[in-house]
Amino acid sequence: MGLIVQKYGGTSVADVDRIRHVADRVIQTVEKGDQLVVILSAMAGVTDKLLDLASQAAEMPDKRELDVLLATGEQTTAALLAITLQARGYPARSLLGFQAAVLTDHDFGNARILEVGTQRILDLLDKKNIVVVAGFQGCDLQGNITTLGRGGSDTSAVAIAAALGADMCEIYTDVDGIYTADPNVCSRARKLSRVTYDEMLNMASLGAKVLQIRSVAFAKKFNVPVHVRSSFSEEEGTMVVNNDEAGMESLVVSAVTHDKNEARITLKKVPDQPGIAAKIFSPIAAAGIVVDMIIQNTREEGDTDLTFTVPKSDYARALKIEEKIAAEIGAEQVYGDRDIAKISVVGMGMKNHSGVAATMFNTLARENINIHMITTSEIRISCVVDEKYAELAVRVLHTAFGLDTEEERD
Ligand code: ASP
Ligand code: MG
Repeated sequence: MGLIVQKYGGTSVADVDRIRHVADRVIQTVEKGDQLVVILSAMAGVTDKLLDLASQAAEMPDKRELDVLLATGEQTTAALLAITLQARGYPARSLLGFQAAVLTDHDFGNARILEVGTQRILDLLDKKNIVVVAGFQGCDLQGNITTLGRGGSDTSAVAIAAALGADMCEIYTDVDGIYTADPNVCSRARKLSRVTYDEMLNMASLGAKVLQIRSVAFAKKFNVPVHVRSSFSEEEGTMVVNNDEAGMESLVVSAVTHDKNEARITLKKVPDQPGIAAKIFSPIAAAGIVVDMIIQNTREEGDTDLTFTVPKSDYARALKIEEKIAAEIGAEQVYGDRDIAKISVVGMGMKNHSGVAATMFNTLARENINIHMITTSEIRISCVVDEKYAELAVRVLHTAFGLDTEEERD
């Protein structure tokens, strides 16, 4: 007998019919003899609707009260599934975050899980119940309801699976797994049967569409095996596993991702002196802006050009800050570009292979795609290119690294 945690996302519980379908899956699992804890999201669109209601009530809703409101989405689905299971003759109990002892800090709207108490869940399982837990919510030390940030029920599921020492955490969603590229961009993208935690963490936008990235960091920390799969098919999805379990034949490159959410800022002819980088980046940090890529080139003339990227949404603010700094430090010019895309190739196999960067650069060169910035890590190489080439870059790299499926999907 195993202990399984299953999480169903918003589209899987979008109405009572779909909740019935979830009940079928749940019943199938318990009929196999496994113990089961089910974590649910709110019905698709409900969290957005609740946010909208709050913004009608006040321009800046109080954060504590907002979490009380948002948590009702998951309260609804958890109760409905328990009711459905009981009506089918299966003992079931729903628990809200605080009842399941999901303890968080008090950062309302983006709380972090500190601890999950398992006693109540284990007692209910012992009494042969299917335990249904409302995802996305917890409570702080003062007993206030908190929520974990958008997409947070993934993190609820992984955290509860970790605390219980579950054999598997299955994430049921509306896609059938993790793909080698965004299938909307690359018709020859294919589903990966396995991907490592580190690859997922490096797949940024591609991974984040499927799982809340915080849940992957959690899974890695506690070594929770995660199976991402579709609730609308029986097919196996993608296993997200430990680096050691990647398998001998792990691909050199597992995925090609693109990210259009960054913008680039360049300071031209910055004095090449100690302390200058600190002057450039401290005010950006103080403004709460997260810098991703940074490149700097030193020239013999004693000055240097410095380029970095920030989220597009922070671009205007960052540019203004740097215009001020540039005048202070005597840089010649500041300019930026919003129309960029970051293209990355990601793969554990890169650790033991040379030539990945060369293949990437050659492939882009053949298409006449200019590279503006490059950064590398142990398992990722990223290039910034003009935004208009993003899709083309993904497709040609996908082919170059041997990821294409034979069959083109429609
Ligand atoms: N209902 C929440 C949201 O839409 C949490 C989740 O679905 O994971 O963000
Ligand atoms: Mg989700």
